[in-house]
Amino acid sequence: MAGLYIHIPFCKSRCIYCGFYSTVQRDLCSDYVDALCCELELRRGYFEEGAVVYGSFDYEPWRTVYIGGGTPSLLDGNMLSRLFGSIDCSKAVEVTMECNPDDVTQEYADMISCLPVNRVSMGAQTFSDSRLRFLGRRHSAGDVALAVERLRKAGIGNISIDLMYGFPDETLDEWQCDIDMALSLDVEHISAYSLMMEEDTPLYDMLMQGKVSEADDELSLKMYETLMDRLYDAGYEHYEISNFARKGYRSQHNSSYWNATPYMGIGASAHSYNGISRQWNVDDVEAYIRSISEGLVPMEIENLSKESRYNDFVMLSLRTPEGIDIERMRKEFGEEWVKYCMDNARGFIRVSGYLRVDGNRLVLTRKGLFVSDMVMSMLMKI
Ligand code: SF4
Repeated sequence: MAGLYIHIPFCKSRCIYCGFYSTVQRDLCSDYVDALCCELELRRGYFEEGAVVYGSFDYEPWRTVYIGGGTPSLLDGNMLSRLFGSIDCSKAVEVTMECNPDDVTQEYADMISCLPVNRVSMGAQTFSDSRLRFLGRRHSAGDVALAVERLRKAGIGNISIDLMYGFPDETLDEWQCDIDMALSLDVEHISAYSLMMEEDTPLYDMLMQGKVSEADDELSLKMYETLMDRLYDAGYEHYEISNFARKGYRSQHNSSYWNATPYMGIGASAHSYNGISRQWNVDDVEAYIRSISEGLVPMEIENLSKESRYNDFVMLSLRTPEGIDIERMRKEFGEEWVKYCMDNARGFIRVSGYLRVDGNRLVLTRKGLFVSDMVMSMLMKI
């Protein structure tokens, strides 16, 4: 059984930091949902070609389903019912839907709780109204607590929130307040990312014009360290570089990305992976709907070389506390690749202490988490 990702690339407005594809043309939502249902039919058989590497994967029923965006909570009950009518969730262990906090009225929370959705993920980002306004977010700090309360009342027992840190001029004390606010919501899962100033975003233009500056590296590291300490003390397990969960509440869907398990993504700009290739759909809603109506999935494919598969394996595995499974590496890539990896890891194990060997696994230490990008790149084949 594999995972299904469904991309809903519609937003009411664009946030200044966002580098993802999305459109504010919401009149296309209904046709888009119909196109998603058609794509599901057109993609039957997607996992067959990858079976040589990962064994066979049933197309359906899905093990996990993740509806992400964009803003999936812009879809109304009718659209969501049509969508779920096309998806076999009968054996799904997790069905996540991303929601914008200000879309979660009690009526909306009650409606989604009647669907197969059993997990909701919300982008809280920060509990400072001025920073939310700066980001161009639609919701206010108070909306997040209200949304959590309404979702709980509707019976959603698994809630995740996203946080951001490293805002221009943000202090460590302010970040600690955000963490405390997040903890006071008592949610099952917290993700936290440092604010990135990506090219082709309004925030990047502001950076180039000298209107904002990036957070100082040392402060960012201190913020990350504070995050790890506070969430650990509060009983959360740090199970991926940016993700923390209460026991039993790791994201099953996202964990399958880190385990390099095949998944299918449908919708404009969605990515898929079947073990031997990666493919991604066109990032244009109108072109997507047009092409699907003609019976063609508008996508590009990259057949993965052994090097790319090895690099993905190293990079994704090291993001988790389970680290690199050396036996699995040996089985999938051969002894020569294990030797390459271990030769490059030696200095990090014996000298810097960024990596440690734990049985048959190679794992980042706490010190190593702060320099994870550098360590990963040194173990990868360039
Ligand atoms: S709501 Fe999400 S996807 Fe839409 S612009 Fe903001 S960050 Fe990007």
